[in-house]
Amino acid sequence: MSDHTDVLIIGAGVAGLAAAWRLSTTDLKICLLEARDRIGGRIYTLHPPTLSTAIELGAEFIHGRPPELFEIIGHMGLAVAETGGERWCARNGNLAPCREIERVELDLDQILSRAPGPDAPDISFQQLLDSYFADERFAGARAAAIRYIEGYHAARADRLSVQALVHGERASDLIDGHRSFRLPAGYDAIANYFRTAFNGSVDLRLNTIVKTIEWQAGQVRVTAQNALDATPQVFRARAAIITLPLGVLKAQPESPGAVRFIPEIPEKRAAMSKIEVGQVIRVNLHFRHRWWTSLRSTDDGRWAARIDRMSFLFAREEKLPTWWTQYPAQTPVMIGWHGGRGAEILLAEDCPITDLAIDSLAHAFNVERCLIEDQIEAIYRHDWHADPFARGSYSYIGVGGLSALTELARPVANTLFFAGEATNTEGHEATVHGAVQTGLRAARDLLERLSN
Ligand SMILES: Cc1cc2nc3c(=O)[nH]c(=O)nc-3n(C[C@H](O)[C@H](O)[C@H](O)COP(=O)(O)OP(=O)(O)OC[C@H]3O[C@@H](n4cnc5c(N)ncnc54)[C@H](O)[C@@H]3O)c2cc1C
Repeated sequence: MSDHTDVLIIGAGVAGLAAAWRLSTTDLKICLLEARDRIGGRIYTLHPPTLSTAIELGAEFIHGRPPELFEIIGHMGLAVAETGGERWCARNGNLAPCREIERVELDLDQILSRAPGPDAPDISFQQLLDSYFADERFAGARAAAIRYIEGYHAARADRLSVQALVHGERASDLIDGHRSFRLPAGYDAIANYFRTAFNGSVDLRLNTIVKTIEWQAGQVRVTAQNALDATPQVFRARAAIITLPLGVLKAQPESPGAVRFIPEIPEKRAAMSKIEVGQVIRVNLHFRHRWWTSLRSTDDGRWAARIDRMSFLFAREEKLPTWWTQYPAQTPVMIGWHGGRGAEILLAEDCPITDLAIDSLAHAFNVERCLIEDQIEAIYRHDWHADPFARGSYSYIGVGGLSALTELARPVANTLFFAGEATNTEGHEATVHGAVQTGLRAARDLLERLSN
């Protein structure tokens, strides 16, 4: 079977969906190829019937007020909840509200103020700390900054580019990036918005695993395999928008999910070698009750009232050190998280993540493990590291890699256009809104080049 079309879009995550949405308003014939049996990619939302909120296995937060997402939210009239509440810390068996993040953010500003200028050689975050904050009196701030950076960026401090961090911080400041929001109804509303908007004008093929992309100026031939019955498929087009995750683009040619370019594009390989694929562990524990609000005797009402407002819990001594609730929603859900080097180690050792999560939580709250086990209604988790169509969580930029984003994003022969979070050159890589921006950019570039 061979299909002819004007534009092939590879990957129906938000980057591919946004590109398809933009192109669907033109006369072009568009075909969107997706390996999974669903759209959304690293947005992966579950809707358990016994919960009033959604469960996110991938992206959860909207970082700041990016117009790309807030326009859609406004258009759909979706409810948005700002994450607020109180941050708590568990340390040496004690649990109390703390100002960990506020302190780290202040320290981080100070640390990044020592970053080399754009014309000086780039260094890693670890090198920056070692150069200017090696003194013993900075030991606490140094450790906290590494924990924060590795957890948030899913990055290794010894590889993460300081230039890229500064670039990202500036971009984030422009969209109120210190605030964060959630869609209680689920992040999948964004993916569904695009799909509904282009429904009927884009040929969406789920369960279509792309294997090779053969290209020459003005012509693309894609071979794929049907995920359900393994039948081979061929698609032809004048141009393609490629939104594959960085982990997939970097995968060894014969590994599951990998895609081969024929001919190879050496500039892309070189660019990719400077951008890293981060790893995270995320576990959603759905309990019968909000057991943590009734741990102390009822006469200690003040404590109970405060812990009811707990949004984040930092338990740095634990294997899963970061936790959050769905505050302001009062749901019986807690999410455990680890990113960067710590997550890489646990994943490499194939550790029993659910067990670690329960142990971490029991230890942080100083309660018996069985109390938590008895409360579990369901555990939801997706292993992004093992997922052949993601091969990691999200990208971060390695030392000297800031310009590699531009190279990765650059169209090839006015025929191949690249999108996806790892091609965001505006400082918004690794985010949903950043991915949407790249899909819109690739569609715009393609329209410009095809009309010339
Ligand atoms: C655990 C986790 C938590 C996150 N938290 C946040 C957050 O809170 N806030 C935030 O803004 N961002 C977050 N992110 C990042 C965010 O999810 C991504 O940046 C964004 O969704 C990426 O969109 P994309 O379209 O670039 O890639 P993807 O969503 O990965 O889309 C690429 C698509 O290509 C498909 N594909 C792959 N291989 C093939 C193939 N061979 N053939 C055909 N199709 C293929 C995939 O199935 C996928 O659908 C998180 C990510 C993870 C994993």
